[in-house]
Amino acid sequence: MAVFFNTKIFVAGHRGLVGSAIVRHLEAQGHTDIKTAPRDELDLTNQAQVSAFFEEHKFDQVYLAAAKVGGIHANNTYPAEFIYQNLMIESNIIHAAHQSGVNKLLFLGSSCIYPKLAPQPIHEDALLTGKLEPSNEPYAIAKIAGVKLCESYNRQYDRDYRIVMPTNLYGPNDNFHPDNSHVVPALLRRLHEAKEGDEKEVVVWGSGSPMREFLHVDDMAAASVHVMGLDHARYAANTEPMLSHINVGTGEDCTIRQLAELIKRVIGFTGELRFDASKPDGTPRKLMDVSRLKGLGWQSEISLENGLQDTYQWFLANQNLFR
Ligand code: GDP
Repeated sequence: MAVFFNTKIFVAGHRGLVGSAIVRHLEAQGHTDIKTAPRDELDLTNQAQVSAFFEEHKFDQVYLAAAKVGGIHANNTYPAEFIYQNLMIESNIIHAAHQSGVNKLLFLGSSCIYPKLAPQPIHEDALLTGKLEPSNEPYAIAKIAGVKLCESYNRQYDRDYRIVMPTNLYGPNDNFHPDNSHVVPALLRRLHEAKEGDEKEVVVWGSGSPMREFLHVDDMAAASVHVMGLDHARYAANTEPMLSHINVGTGEDCTIRQLAELIKRVIGFTGELRFDASKPDGTPRKLMDVSRLKGLGWQSEISLENGLQDTYQWFLANQNLFR
């Protein structure tokens, strides 16, 4: 694998699930010149601050992992924040990167950019072929704008701004908020607290029948660095005609019921699961077609069970953060 020493890298979103994993992965590879910026020093939604920051540092590479993210309930409750903050963060960073001469950037999208009823598994070409899932449409539109920003700077200015489209991610540093988080951290926490409290029953939102694909964030970080390191001609040949995006996932999914059963086993909760159909299911299924990435020499390594074990251990060691 190509390793770029003496490469000045900015990881935007370093405190988040994906950004923190990318920093860990780059450090493990031996990179030493990794810049991160705490929120109170750099507001990524502020164009003037972002431009000045990029002019000052003159990065060689940027990983754009900063985003306002959340689960189905958060997306439904705060649509304005989801569209506004994501549009601002992406526009500011991608434009400032271009203005300051950064030629390589990796933008992280999301599988929810694809149409709600896209044929499964979802191929990269399904983008913009149908209506989106309403619960996260504002977020998805912002992420689609990010894809188009990258494609446009590539087309007009010959930049090398690459795009990866992760499936549902989980792992250390996830958001474990009881209502606003995604399903994996929400259930890990709820089932853990039920076990501690000796409760007999735990509520799982929705019918249990939606299917989701889950990727451990360490796999996502490895995939991101892999895609960034690909030879340009190879990346271009696989993402023509727009130098567009590459799906990242495991290629396997399960029902929410199966996920809940597995988390129950990992935690050792012995009570019952109750499915609350008054809560939204969201999109019925979103399994990624990962053949493009496999063809480019990468596939996931962490099984769902091992990944959940690892995340639960991290949760146990960091519970004080969530009180
Ligand atoms: P989505 O993939 O964008 O729908 O993101 P989520 O991770 O929020 O939800 C995935 C699925 O898990 C949906 O069908 C939810 O209804 C279901 N789910 C079950 N229990 C929970 C929970 O406690 N929190 C969340 N966020 N989702 C849950």
